[in-house]
Amino acid sequence: MAGNARRKIVVLGSTGSIGRQTLDVVRQHPEKLQVVGLAAHSNAKLLLAQAAEFDVHCLALADESLASAPVGDLLRAQARSGGEDGSLGFGPAAVVGLAQTPGADVVVNALVGAAGLRASVEALEGGRVLALANKESLVVGGDLIMPLSRRVDEARRVAGKAPKAGPAGALMPIDSEHGAIYQCLIGEEAREVSRLWVTASGGPFRGRSREQLSCVTAAEALAHPTWSMGPKITIDSSTLMNKGLEVIEAHHLFAMPYDRISVVVQPQSAIHSMVEFVDGSVKAHLGTTDMRIPIQYALSYPERWDAPVEPLDFTKIGSLDFAAPDTDTFRCLALARCAGETGGTLPAVMNAANEVAVAAFLAGEGTYLGIAECVEAVMDAHAAGGAGGVQPAESVEQLEAADAWAREEAARHIR
Ligand code: NDP
Ligand code: MG
Repeated sequence: MAGNARRKIVVLGSTGSIGRQTLDVVRQHPEKLQVVGLAAHSNAKLLLAQAAEFDVHCLALADESLASAPVGDLLRAQARSGGEDGSLGFGPAAVVGLAQTPGADVVVNALVGAAGLRASVEALEGGRVLALANKESLVVGGDLIMPLSRRVDEARRVAGKAPKAGPAGALMPIDSEHGAIYQCLIGEEAREVSRLWVTASGGPFRGRSREQLSCVTAAEALAHPTWSMGPKITIDSSTLMNKGLEVIEAHHLFAMPYDRISVVVQPQSAIHSMVEFVDGSVKAHLGTTDMRIPIQYALSYPERWDAPVEPLDFTKIGSLDFAAPDTDTFRCLALARCAGETGGTLPAVMNAANEVAVAAFLAGEGTYLGIAECVEAVMDAHAAGGAGGVQPAESVEQLEAADAWAREEAARHIR
């Protein structure tokens, strides 16, 4: 770390699964990390408690209706106690604005869905490190985010903020698979990498047939075998859409063509991903299934700090199993890969349709198999010319328009 100053971090989505675990990492390393901004959607009570515990005065809530609620006054008092530096905003723009918190070094984007895209762009445009859990940002806007991150990498090198060897660290993946690949690639030549192996747990329905999946309930889909996560990603994990999003995420992060990114089911989730090299060697990253490890690495890079988790005990793993994913039954993986390969506005459309279909399923308004059907129907409509047909990605506004169109199409499909 440059000097001995604490790294100042903004946590967007601080009340969620990744957000709370990020604050847990800060609790373990108060001499290395300082929280300077917190944002959530509507859980004002927890946001206030976090602000009080970590002495944070720059706050935002996406839910505008809370501005006039009693808890709004408590949040205002917390912001004011920070003097001139304090701020409190309501609405999506206020959440994005927090990515520009003065003095912040790192923005942890732990928002859910395409709503996180602007925050990712804003963080990098402000020259800050983006610690990214919000994979949807890269799925939707990877073509815009990666050039920005290369610009920040360059600025970090010029300013002497980058490590002497290895990546400059402007965009640090929090997703465990990508954190694993990031570490396996350090010290390696990009041209000597032949394949990325993204591991998947297979989800709670591994081995089931389409017929068996036809009457799956939200409660069943929310019971993930190895990871405890927010509801949207838990459903995505069960449909394998999460793995599809991760293939696109890996394509952007590591500039790897799709035909050299493979998915393998590894039910114990002990291997977090692997990199294969031209000489046939394979490097794997293993560890305890605890998101605080990849979160902490994204914040400590290029250093490693003590982890607040039990290390992996190999004598207790017993065995490591591997299998090919069943993409006939779990079609979302194939659909996402197809969207990624086509590129342009199609991944944004695919992602938005999935968000709508997952929300409908969670609300009891759609079926489990209906998620893939909806995604495919909306992708087909876009490929056939809907919303002007698939265009190269050019701007956040264009991608948001494609996203909005896809949401309307998806809602129509579900009704
Ligand atoms: P959660 O649902 O647990 O938390 C989401 C957080 O974002 C909450 O703080 C929520 O606020 C806030 N939020 C949601 N939507 C908005 C919005 N539109 N504007 C402002 N704030 C919003 O999700 P997770 O923590 O599980 O996931 C976060 C991201 O990380 C996702 O992209 C997911 O795919 C990714 N990820 C998660 C992993 C995990 O283990 N959980 C692993 C790898 C990646 P509120 O509480 O007020 O609703
Ligand atoms: Mg993951």
